[in-house]
Amino acid sequence: MLKIENLHAEIDGKQILKGLSLSVNAGEVHAIMGPNGAGKSTLGYVLGGRPGYEVTQGSVIFRPTSVTPDQGRGDEEGWIDLLGLDPHERAAAGLFLGFQYPVEIPGVSNVQFLREALNAQRASRDEKPLSGAEFLKLARAQADALALPQEMLKRPVNVGFSGGEKKRNEMVQMGLIDPRLAILDETDSGLDIDALRVVGDGINRIMRRPDKAVILITHYQRLLDYVKPDFVHVLAEGRITRSGGPELAHQLEREGYAEIGAEVAA
Ligand code: ADP
Ligand code: MG
Repeated sequence: MLKIENLHAEIDGKQILKGLSLSVNAGEVHAIMGPNGAGKSTLGYVLGGRPGYEVTQGSVIFRPTSVTPDQGRGDEEGWIDLLGLDPHERAAAGLFLGFQYPVEIPGVSNVQFLREALNAQRASRDEKPLSGAEFLKLARAQADALALPQEMLKRPVNVGFSGGEKKRNEMVQMGLIDPRLAILDETDSGLDIDALRVVGDGINRIMRRPDKAVILITHYQRLLDYVKPDFVHVLAEGRITRSGGPELAHQLEREGYAEIGAEVAA
């Protein structure tokens, strides 16, 4: 579904990603762990197409398959050059980026925002827009599933939301958008134990499917107790320095990045 090869990227002339390679197949959950400042969020931003990040080397191809049957037509295998797309085209192709720090948008209600986002994606798939009533029904179901009070749907996007509410709100958004590949950046930060379970269950419910994949950026094993990864990678100094199975996350928690990093360097 996603193939990242030898990715180099910089911001403001500072090289952050230095030859990162990663392959993700449909049906898989990949956890990415790594020390602060290693480039984890940068990876998410580069994949999402955030302005200001310049890719200087390498490639990223994406095969969204059935979300957008028209994408990639003319290419037998259906792979598209992700880096050649605008951010909204990437989203329409099935990519979802959950932010480490969700932004507040004063003056725009959550329902307005979510409905616009969903209908823009439906338009790109030649589906008719959802009416206000149709949309509200879906949005309420998602809010309920994530234990987000319904009145929060009417409030301005993320304004005055607690850390946990912002993350749950992102999961509501993800449930509505129903992406093919989700990159979730420290979705577990700021969550209490109950919210962690709710969000973990939400990720499993929305994304744990044979035709979808998740890249889960996290510092802690505790989210991985709920969303069980198939692969765990260490991102250090702009590259994947180590890959393994779920046991690698436990090892990191026990030994820390310094130990594991030392092993890599040796
Ligand atoms: P992580 O998410 O792994 O903690 P980030 O991807 O957020 O790391 O950041 C990687 C590095 O990029 C850090 O050293 C950070 O200071 C640097 N960085 C981020 N944004 C900028 C910027 N606008 N200009 C220069 N350096 C930046
Ligand atoms: Mg980060």
